[in-house]
Amino acid sequence: MIIKSANLETVCGITSVLPENDKPEIAFAGKSNVGKSSLINALMNRKSLARTSSQPGKTQTINFYNINDELYFVDLPGYGYAKVSVAVKEKWGKMIEKYLKKSTQLKVVFLLVDIRHEPSANDKSMYDWILYNGFQPIIIATKLDKINRSQRDKHIKMIKEGLSVVPGTRIYPFSSLSKQGRDEIWECIEEICDF
Ligand code: GDP
Repeated sequence: MIIKSANLETVCGITSVLPENDKPEIAFAGKSNVGKSSLINALMNRKSLARTSSQPGKTQTINFYNINDELYFVDLPGYGYAKVSVAVKEKWGKMIEKYLKKSTQLKVVFLLVDIRHEPSANDKSMYDWILYNGFQPIIIATKLDKINRSQRDKHIKMIKEGLSVVPGTRIYPFSSLSKQGRDEIWECIEEICDF
């Protein structure tokens, strides 16, 4: 995909009405600090359009990025941030659920996990919850540059088993440093959107 334009078009807070877009939507979920903003920026060829922050959990909004007027990236709030109160977490859960249930344009949810670690209980809950809401997550294993090449298959197996993924689930290793995996993820998005 050649990126001609990429703009943050809509930012939804807890009380916002979700936009009714008429282009395909691709959502990204993952715990805070997993590398979600870095991935979104890499896919959009932008350095810092999506926020990369050293303060995990700050972005508590659903952000819609308009790409080329052809599709939207939907950046879901990062989870697993301890400092957010239970009440706020619940509200966010409801909002994400509303989005998953109501969007008529959502084509796929990418769930990001760190390739180095076994998926956390939160990762597993998120996976199951997305599945429960009718979408089969595709996994992106981030920070690929942090492990040795020889460890890659072992870690991918660990993530698949940790999440108990649906058989046949795709998993894309990715590094925002080397951009390894970027083209494969775009190919996947194009295939899903029927471009
Ligand atoms: P987010 O909270 O999920 O949006 O995560 P960010 O994209 O802000 O990344 C969190 C931290 O991990 C930042 O310090 C990034 O520089 C770092 N990071 C993200 N992706 C990668 C990666 O692929 N490789 C390495 N080595 N660091 C990464």
